[in-house]
Amino acid sequence: MTTSDPGYDFDFAVAGGGPAGSSSAISLRQRGHSVVLFEREIFPRFHIGESLLSTANDSFAALGVAKQIEAASFPEKWGARLFTHDGQNGRYVDFTCVREVTKPQTYQVPREEFDRILLERAREVGVDVREACNVITCEFAADAAILDVASRVDAAARRVRVRALVDATGRGGLLARKFNLRTEEPRLANVAIYSHYTNVPRLEGPRPDDIRLIARDDAGWFWLIPISKELTSVGVVLPKALYRRLANGSPEETLNGTISDTPIVAELMREARREWPVRVEKDFSYSASAYAGNRWILAGDAGSFLDPVFSTGVSIAMESGIEAAAALHRALARNDFSASTFAAFSRRQRKRFETFRRFVVGFYTPQFRDVFFSPEPPTLIFRSVATMLAGKWNASLWTRFLNQLFFGMISIQKRFKITRRAFRRDREAGYPSEVSSKGSIANGV
Ligand SMILES: Cc1cc2nc3c(=O)[nH]c(=O)nc-3n(C[C@H](O)[C@H](O)[C@H](O)COP(=O)(O)OP(=O)(O)OC[C@H]3O[C@@H](n4cnc5c(N)ncnc54)[C@H](O)[C@@H]3O)c2cc1C
Repeated sequence: MTTSDPGYDFDFAVAGGGPAGSSSAISLRQRGHSVVLFEREIFPRFHIGESLLSTANDSFAALGVAKQIEAASFPEKWGARLFTHDGQNGRYVDFTCVREVTKPQTYQVPREEFDRILLERAREVGVDVREACNVITCEFAADAAILDVASRVDAAARRVRVRALVDATGRGGLLARKFNLRTEEPRLANVAIYSHYTNVPRLEGPRPDDIRLIARDDAGWFWLIPISKELTSVGVVLPKALYRRLANGSPEETLNGTISDTPIVAELMREARREWPVRVEKDFSYSASAYAGNRWILAGDAGSFLDPVFSTGVSIAMESGIEAAAALHRALARNDFSASTFAAFSRRQRKRFETFRRFVVGFYTPQFRDVFFSPEPPTLIFRSVATMLAGKWNASLWTRFLNQLFFGMISIQKRFKITRRAFRRDREAGYPSEVSSKGSIANGV
């Protein structure tokens, strides 16, 4: 452990005990620093975000939790099964075809259990984990970050002085709100409605627990994610304009309505029993104008988050948490916690966000869906797409070149018909307008 200067209570503080916070706390501790982590809830607590990517395995290895994750017997994910609303087209995003990841098979997890495992690991390596502790504010002096923390247990308020803060408060965005850093994503202004169900049939064959991603014939889509032997997480995502058109009463009624007018989902949900209230989330896509500053760093959703369509959230959160720890470790070695020290960290966060964003924004256009769900894209090109979707955002030059060809096919499909037009193009389909999107033009989707 670094010898803490007597002026500091700990070397570092982490606000938030989700995957980003636990990962950065574990990683800082593994590098020998004293760390306190404040989490406002008491674990286990519910959280959405259940399907992981292959690259999460690298984080498990780095954090020393691979064995615990394996022992938890979470449903295995080998890839994603893609279906069109009528069940006509179905393609397999097979992670075992991806050559650029260490281990293709990953998991789908009930987050209360998954997040608990990570937080326990933080305790095990010596992080001072304090649950039911809300970080209310953080001020930054020339030589310290000073946090005010309120405990829900004894109603006491405490002041903690550290060298620097990792903000991993998720969508709550402690510092993003303080410094007004959030950049909204009007092109991804979507609404998700979801719950957990029993009695949803699993896939046939050797990989029954893969995620199913089912496109409606409009701009909406469903996820079906097995998260335990019994439970399947089921949700629909609708762009806001479409949501306004389809909303018919309570969230439960809207979810049921979208299930029953999507033939393949209606069939799969025939015997399903809902086990939790229906929940709604919206405005979940945004980035940040800065990912670090003097004595602070943003990790995971506290910095940016993209629509859940490609299940990137948790895997990115862990990755960025580990990277935040590495950046702080370097800063401490140089005794320089200024914003410029974290420039490389920030560039990497932005690059990763933008790489995935191109796919996510593309997904909300009919021509992307025509190509993506079609059985026809050449195998080599589709494998390059699978590489990205397995989480390998910084893939080889060759893979990135093939991805360019994939987006080239989508541009052609916009004007000509290189594959069946399986998706509606009318206004009622509810795709976000291209005029409002600098992203879609910049990305050439
Ligand atoms: C509808 C939907 C579906 C999704 N599906 C997927 C999916 O299938 N796969 C996937 O990988 N991701 C998915 N995600 C994204 C995923 O939920 C997040 O990306 C992930 O949880 C980010 O982890 P994090 O640690 O950054 O934040 P969080 O997991 O949100 O953790 C933040 C923690 O900080 C705590 N906190 C907040 N404020 C404070 C404070 N002031 N003081 C102390 N503690 C605080 C919170 O209690 C929380 O525990 C989905 C998201 C949505 C909205």
